[in-house]
Amino acid sequence: MSTRAALPVLEDLPPLAGHRVLVRTDFNVPMDGGRITDDFRIRAALPTIQWLQGQGASVVCASHLGRPKGKPDPRWSMDAVRARLAELAPGVELLENLRFDAGEEANDAAFVARLVDGMDAYVDDAFGAAHRAHASIVGPPRTLPSAMGRLLAREVDVLLGLRDHPKHPFVAVLGGAKISDKLGVVEALLDVVDALVIGGAMCFTFLAAQGNPIGDSLCEPDQIDTCRRLLASGKTIHLPEDIIGVAADGSVQTWGTHLPAGAKGFDIGPGSAAAFADVVMDARTVFWNGPMGMFEDERFAAGTRAVAQAMADTRAFTVVGGGDSAAALAQFGLDDQVDHVSTGGGASLELLELGDLPGLAALRAAPNAPRSASGSEG
Ligand code: ADP
Ligand code: MG
Repeated sequence: MSTRAALPVLEDLPPLAGHRVLVRTDFNVPMDGGRITDDFRIRAALPTIQWLQGQGASVVCASHLGRPKGKPDPRWSMDAVRARLAELAPGVELLENLRFDAGEEANDAAFVARLVDGMDAYVDDAFGAAHRAHASIVGPPRTLPSAMGRLLAREVDVLLGLRDHPKHPFVAVLGGAKISDKLGVVEALLDVVDALVIGGAMCFTFLAAQGNPIGDSLCEPDQIDTCRRLLASGKTIHLPEDIIGVAADGSVQTWGTHLPAGAKGFDIGPGSAAAFADVVMDARTVFWNGPMGMFEDERFAAGTRAVAQAMADTRAFTVVGGGDSAAALAQFGLDDQVDHVSTGGGASLELLELGDLPGLAALRAAPNAPRSASGSEG
């Protein structure tokens, strides 16, 4: 039985009428001075909440917000989230910020006991936190009948689907700031993709590994050997053929792959953008993580925009992971033109890399989980 088939879904819960259900949501919304700047994460939880209410359950949500370091911090109070939730889903309770208690991140047994007290079932719909072995993620399924919510189930279906049965050609487009953050997934993807496309700051470590002078562009010297090994793996790895950046005199310029002294590369050039877009257009499956350049600055947004537009235009099944990549898509107004935008940056990379997450393993071991033929944990 596959790892997916052994995961309990909402329909695997016992009858819920009159019962209390603890729902671990990801309400870690962007805030500005106590106000919510985007309520997407609250709205995203509604299908699960409404299904549970439709079964007659009373819903109690719990989430973390920000990084309050294990003690109450008024800056990270759930009040604004609670008010918005009351508008969108009347009658739902919301516990105080889970990270106001050090027991959450420490996965403390006494904190778990307090969370499950008075609860009859548990639902995990917090994909963005499923890679953390925190109390609210791995604790409740030890005792309560448990299930993935709709959001979590969709993430798992899409991301495990990329690993297990992608349509080929399968292309991964990777960018963003640090290659060391993403090396694990780069290596894991090499086994399943037909081609890797590398842009963003991480391309400079690859370009340096090929012997190109990269000026003062971001580079991780301790990763150069790894990049060399990946380049020698025989896989198709597309690197930029031109670079846009800031020259030593402060002017914005375009170069080939040999950058002059003092130059800093901040985006892939137009030739690379067109080449990368072609690879995306010809693929049947594309996973994209990490912007192609410093897209927050309009002078260095063209490469990311070209890839985002190709993601929108290609007939391929398209998946975007990563907070900044998703923000870039939204900034270009293209977020509704890809097949799936993952709500978890770190979690999506870890699930692609390892094929499992602590939160999923916990659900698979829940008392009501579908019995696995291979008898996994428990
Ligand atoms: P994601 O959140 O999608 O996983 P990352 O967090 O890895 O992406 O990286 C996003 C950041 O990388 C952005 O803030 C972007 O400005 C930065 N970045 C991309 N290319 C470059 C570059 N060439 N130089 C400096 N920063 C870059
Ligand atoms: Mg990021």
